[in-house]
Amino acid sequence: MDDTLVLSLLLLSAAIGGGLAAAWWLAERGRRAAAANWRNAEARYTSLLGLTPDGIITVGADGRIILINPQAEALLGYGPGELLGRALDELLPEPHNERHASLRATYLQAPEPRPMTGAHQLTAARRKDGGLVPVRVSLNPVPTTTGWVVTAILHDLSLLKQTEARLRLQSVALESAANGIVITNRTGHILWTNPAFSRMTGYPADEVVGQTPGLLKSGRHSAEFYRAMWDTILAGQVWQGETVNRRKDGSLYVEEQTIAPVRDEAGFVTHFVAIKQDVTRRQRAEAAVRQQAQHLAGLNQAMQALSSTLDLPEVLGRILGELRLLAPYDRAAILLRQTEVLEVAAGQGFAEPVAGRSRPFQLDADHDPAARVVRTLAPVLLAEAEAQAAAWQGASAGLVRTWLGLPLAQGERPLGLLALESRAPEAFAAPQVQTALVFAAQAAIAIENARLYAAAQREVAERARAETELRDRLAENIGLQQRLQEQAIRDPLTGLFNRRYLSETLERELARASRAGLPLSVVLLDVDHFKRLNDTYGHKAGDLMLQALARLLQGNSRHEDIPCRYGGEEFVLVLMGAPLAAAAQRAEAWRQTLEALTVEHEAWGLRATISLGVAAFPQHGTTTDELLKAADRALYQAKARGRNQVAVAESRPTAPLVSQRERTSSE
Ligand code: GH3
Ligand code: MG
Ligand code: MG
Repeated sequence: MDDTLVLSLLLLSAAIGGGLAAAWWLAERGRRAAAANWRNAEARYTSLLGLTPDGIITVGADGRIILINPQAEALLGYGPGELLGRALDELLPEPHNERHASLRATYLQAPEPRPMTGAHQLTAARRKDGGLVPVRVSLNPVPTTTGWVVTAILHDLSLLKQTEARLRLQSVALESAANGIVITNRTGHILWTNPAFSRMTGYPADEVVGQTPGLLKSGRHSAEFYRAMWDTILAGQVWQGETVNRRKDGSLYVEEQTIAPVRDEAGFVTHFVAIKQDVTRRQRAEAAVRQQAQHLAGLNQAMQALSSTLDLPEVLGRILGELRLLAPYDRAAILLRQTEVLEVAAGQGFAEPVAGRSRPFQLDADHDPAARVVRTLAPVLLAEAEAQAAAWQGASAGLVRTWLGLPLAQGERPLGLLALESRAPEAFAAPQVQTALVFAAQAAIAIENARLYAAAQREVAERARAETELRDRLAENIGLQQRLQEQAIRDPLTGLFNRRYLSETLERELARASRAGLPLSVVLLDVDHFKRLNDTYGHKAGDLMLQALARLLQGNSRHEDIPCRYGGEEFVLVLMGAPLAAAAQRAEAWRQTLEALTVEHEAWGLRATISLGVAAFPQHGTTTDELLKAADRALYQAKARGRNQVAVAESRPTAPLVSQRERTSSE
């Protein structure tokens, strides 16, 4: 074998820290080598040094660098050849430490190849930029013809340090994770747990390592459950689910768990990592939220029930009914505040009827829980003796262990309270009280609305009643007035207009006829021998005859005619628009009709005749007086001629004054 090649190989061996014997051999050979060969060998050696990943530096006995490979130069941040001849001390963490020379001398007194260990171990080298690079150094003394040289092999540890740091970080992360972490081998035996696991389960790590997580089993899950879990993870899949487990102290908790299989490079499942989270509290919170939602739904329904009626008794009934669903009670009452008393508006669960009962009430009475509720507008919850004292004190007062007073108020205005009683201790939990409190606010509004509605109803009814009464009275008055008016102008026996009405009306009608240029006639009639009728059949018979005659006249006159009773058995008819001839005709018709009439009275058929005098405007007079007198004269004529006949007034004499005088004289 070529010496040079052997040398090179041996140097390489030395360089990678391999064979110590080879280094010795190299040294022996070196001493024997020819000076000519040395340069050649050195060149090869140098080129071979470039093949190793580690940095190699050869230092002479004086501590100066004889040889350096490019890896060392790169590691330390120097350019090619820059370090040759420089003191090795420059590369040490403490470049100017005086102890370096003595340490080196000590080493060279008994040189042997070894890694640097112990007190003087070199763990870092100084780079050109002043920074330190972590290295592992091994020293290899090499004897030469001129004395010992030392080759130092520098193994870069930066990558390792980084990895170490990363691992340390990961380890710390696992250690300090909030979730419990368990690492098991493939058979499920625990290799490692973190502190969170211990906190969650109560088991210290050293108690569970070597065991299986089965020690946490609560018995709440079937064998099937665990089998499915194992099937999943052994198939290399992640299992996720909730498990009820048992802590070391025996208490149960709910755990949300993710178990992930760890595979080796060949894909074989070697470990399992389980990440666990105690979700008991979360589940409780979720349950609370669910319960809250149920309360709200109940509350909503209760409020709807309240707002769907305005009838006060019904509202009160619904309040108690809905309240029983929201905050189950044994007895409850709606107490409304009157000035100095609390009155029970409605009650439920009492043995005797309580509605309408009342008790004295002082708002500032400190010892009275009801007063406190009304005064502070806040709920009051009492237990045991206090509850018993606050409870209903009627005949049916039983054992009450919890009492709850809820304010009924509209805004700041207190109306009263809801008093709930329960025989159960610690009834009415906080969420129930809260819900019931919201409900009570709505209940107060519903009560107020129903009261307002009732008041409005009462008012409306009252007004309607008053209006009806007023109308009735008014109608009565009008009737009365009309009757009085009628009485003033009517004859009570016959119902015809009376003499007063006649004189008033005739005057008016004459003026109208005169303005309109229309005719007007008057007929004056008198019952013949009426005295005789009275005397024969009695006054009553006379009255009946007068009434029969009045009906006849009324029934046979026109709308515009005015039939009047003029005196005892004398009648006047004013015929509007009727000229004399027409009036005489109608007079004749009445005469005939009466003549043919029989009035039944007792056993008799009464009969009578009339005499009639007719006068007309304007030929027989232009005033009431003139006309009636003319008619009267005509009547007189009819009587004189034998009665039961019609006589027409004679035309007036041309000089009324003379006529007046004539008439006056004739009477
Ligand atoms: P004649 O007119 O045909 O000359 O005879 P006469 O009997 O009707 O006479 P006169 O007019 O004097 O009598 C009227 C009587 O009528 C006198 C009175 O007793 C009677 N009389 C007056 N008013 C009433 C009355 O309201 N009822 C009744 N039953 N009789 C009355
Ligand atoms: Mg008469
Ligand atoms: Mg008469």
